[in-house]
Amino acid sequence: MLGQMQKTPLLVNGILDYAALYHGEREIISRLVEGEIHRETYAQAHLRARKLSQSLLKLGLTQGDIIATLAWNTHRHLESWYAITGIGAVYHTLNPRLFAEQLVYIINHAADKFIITDLTFVPLLEAIADKLPTVKGFIIMTDEAHMPQTKLDPVYCFESLIEAENGDFDWVALDENAACGICYTSGTTGQPKGVVYSHRSNVIHTLVANGADVFALTSRATILPVVPMFHANSWGIAFAAPMVGAKMVLPGPKMDGESLYELLDKEKVTMSAAVPTIWLMLLQHLEAHKLSLPHLQRVLIGGAAVPRMMIEKFEKDYKVEVDHAWGMTETSPLGTVCTLKAGMENYSFEEKMQTKLKQGRPPYLIWLKITDPDGKTLPRDGKTFGNLKIKGPFILETYLREENEIVLDEEGFFDTGDIATIDPEGYMQITDRAKDIVKSGGEWISSIEIENIAVGHADIAEAAIIGIAHPKWGERPLLIVLPREGVDISTPEKVQKDILAYLEGKIAKWWMPDDIVFVDSMPHTAAGKIQKTALREQFKDYQWPPAILADDKGE
Ligand code: ADP
Repeated sequence: MLGQMQKTPLLVNGILDYAALYHGEREIISRLVEGEIHRETYAQAHLRARKLSQSLLKLGLTQGDIIATLAWNTHRHLESWYAITGIGAVYHTLNPRLFAEQLVYIINHAADKFIITDLTFVPLLEAIADKLPTVKGFIIMTDEAHMPQTKLDPVYCFESLIEAENGDFDWVALDENAACGICYTSGTTGQPKGVVYSHRSNVIHTLVANGADVFALTSRATILPVVPMFHANSWGIAFAAPMVGAKMVLPGPKMDGESLYELLDKEKVTMSAAVPTIWLMLLQHLEAHKLSLPHLQRVLIGGAAVPRMMIEKFEKDYKVEVDHAWGMTETSPLGTVCTLKAGMENYSFEEKMQTKLKQGRPPYLIWLKITDPDGKTLPRDGKTFGNLKIKGPFILETYLREENEIVLDEEGFFDTGDIATIDPEGYMQITDRAKDIVKSGGEWISSIEIENIAVGHADIAEAAIIGIAHPKWGERPLLIVLPREGVDISTPEKVQKDILAYLEGKIAKWWMPDDIVFVDSMPHTAAGKIQKTALREQFKDYQWPPAILADDKGE
């Protein structure tokens, strides 16, 4: 016997219909590339997106076509997503921080038909346009007055396309399993790979993300997604905010402390989401100018582990709750969020901190396990490290154009490439990426844990641990430090000693870095994370001091 309820397909465009109908006056604020702050409502965005759909059809684009966007978070980028998916085409977010060759590879691999770009990236596209045979045209997200002289051809003006249409358009009817969007992993492990979201997976992901123990977004909220739409779908916020009618504040190209503070303050933002690097810049700005955050209630931090001092500063100094989250492009991206469970409200600050440093627990529809290298499930004791695997309706099954390659285990779990523990309460903690973990004498050392403690030291701006070969231990940890501005490292031994003294007692003795080196700059990936591959290359000829080579670690 089958159920007898309606089979309404789960399509993302219904989200914007809903926002326009029930929250039509709620605003979307954007800092434009052209400089000014732009304001519009969900009702206006809905009309403009439908107009853009009409023009995309006139440009010859159709269902199943892949249309790339190379853009910051603005209302135009948001409208583009809905306009693209509204004709049954597929949005493909390009990350402008990738190298030009990687962009060429990705655009050709996806066979993008059109590129909708911000003014910022016109020169970047001009430099590679002749290597993009599948791309039939470009749309520049600006008005006629700001259209640049460009070699891009054919090229269209976003605002002129919209002006020419009347918006009398219904989104095309689609199967909910139709492709909706594509985002490539940033290729930290080789060539970037395409992850193809469906309408269904995006809608389910959004419903889950809006759960009260997850984002807990409501129509009363004002959310500022700093995390770019090209970085794992801005963690789903471009769908989650309109689904509940939250006011959106989009930072455009400016993500420095001062610009973000201005928006947080003026627009009375209640919730924001970004990677730790962004929050570091904001905290520094707040401290330097003695500012407060009276409106902000919560920050969602993910993409990289949140250091303890960041939680402390936000929660103690600014009374802003930190929710640590973990996910990846392949998981849409939500995997876990660290909200507290019943009973934990009575925890001491320190107990809460120990929980909040973990990446959190999965909402319903996500299943996690940790396994040994043979695939055997390991205990949830909060101590045993294992390969983190994940399953659910918005987790990747296969990569784009690799449909015959099975990447799931026999129980249907996807291997995240992360190493983690899961505690008896279900809280997961990432200890490392599998390829970054330091293996010393057969035991694993968590580089993330040491780095996070190290950045609490007043002289350290950024810290990274890499494993360096050691004849006796296999590998030992080397701590690479970018000192804060103005720190005197003319006598490095003194600073090194001080950092080691700071770490002592905070990590296991055998986890102590055997040497500390200082760098002038830290390499970052396109997603703003420390690029360990580049550091390993930079230090490939590093030699341990003789005393370290002789060290027997107390054996
Ligand atoms: P990339 O491979 O380009 O970094 P993603 O943006 O998809 O791509 O990053 C996913 C990875 O980022 C995860 O597999 C994990 O290693 C790391 N990550 C994400 N969130 C966290 C977090 N809160 N703590 C530690 N690592 C995280």
